[in-house]
Amino acid sequence: MNAPLSPPLAMLMELTHRCPLKCPYCSNPLALDRARDELDTATWKRVISEAAGIGILQAHFSGGEPMVRSDLPELVRHARAEGLYTNLITSAVLLNAARMAELADAGLDHVQISFQGADAAVADHVAGFRDAHEKKLTAARLVREAGLALTLNAVVHRQNLHQLSAMIDLAVEAGAQRIEVAHVQYYGWALKNRAALIPTRAQLDEATRIVTAARANLAGTLTIDYVVPDYYAARPKACMGGWARQFFNITPSGKMLPCHAAETLPGLVFERVTERSVGEIWAHSSAFEKYRGTGWMAPPCQGCARAEIDWGGCRCQALALTGDAGATDPACGLSPDHAMMAALAIAESGAAVDDFAYRMIS
Ligand code: SF4
Ligand code: SF4
Repeated sequence: MNAPLSPPLAMLMELTHRCPLKCPYCSNPLALDRARDELDTATWKRVISEAAGIGILQAHFSGGEPMVRSDLPELVRHARAEGLYTNLITSAVLLNAARMAELADAGLDHVQISFQGADAAVADHVAGFRDAHEKKLTAARLVREAGLALTLNAVVHRQNLHQLSAMIDLAVEAGAQRIEVAHVQYYGWALKNRAALIPTRAQLDEATRIVTAARANLAGTLTIDYVVPDYYAARPKACMGGWARQFFNITPSGKMLPCHAAETLPGLVFERVTERSVGEIWAHSSAFEKYRGTGWMAPPCQGCARAEIDWGGCRCQALALTGDAGATDPACGLSPDHAMMAALAIAESGAAVDDFAYRMIS
């Protein structure tokens, strides 16, 4: 039995898949949209208005690198005029003083800057972009000088976890209010690079110890969010707060998705905002309805006391590891596939694979 449909909380707009960086864990799909297929400014503004009309509170501008779009300030201004909280999720390598001033003037509320390490040697190697780290440090200073809220996104994995303490120190020095320490989630590019990224159990335990100690030491100074890797979990996360319950994603070419990796699921048709309104897709699209609520679940999820807590975990991960998008997420210890997932983590984290398949448009 599904509860009545509530308004979504947030919309994530992938304005473009273009990006100067090549992160090997990028959440974009392997088949990236091209510039010529991107929605134009007028369509994005209509989409923002429609999303505000169905009750979203937050507009997240993402990519790729959203700053490659010259209309970003215009879109931010429009979102603010619609009463939305605006957040820019950026690599920050294109954020200079003039563009910061434009975005602040447009009413941008918050900036999230991704960091790939604590120093240039590690960070630039992971990003596949020379001088990226230095540019990010400069951009973080510009964000604070403009008076905007700043979060650092620290995506951690086997090849940068030794710098976790230094990354937390860097967030304090940069004047960030929050750092999100997020272990890589293995979809898309990250799944392709899993053997080079997945941490050992010992690394995970040390990271958890560092985060716990830093939370105590930095209480009142820095908020630390911590996302653990599913491969070592006993229970899954409520992926996206549950399929099509709180969030949706719009791709550069206008497909509306319940999560950024949803296009990996075969047999689902993702409708375009150029053909149907945001509200109609949210309420009636067959892809959104497919895994919404608990009615679709089979045992062991069906009837489980946690069914409305974790919503059965991640559909994309269930598909990637079991071949069945309707299966219990193997991150759950009650899944018949859990032991296989745990064995994969042990085998691949011990493998001597260090080379990345960098993210790029083919
Ligand atoms: S994860 Fe890296 S490559 Fe992907 S969009 Fe962000 S900065 Fe660009
Ligand atoms: S069986 Fe399903 S609902 Fe229960 S804890 Fe596992 S994933 Fe969550």
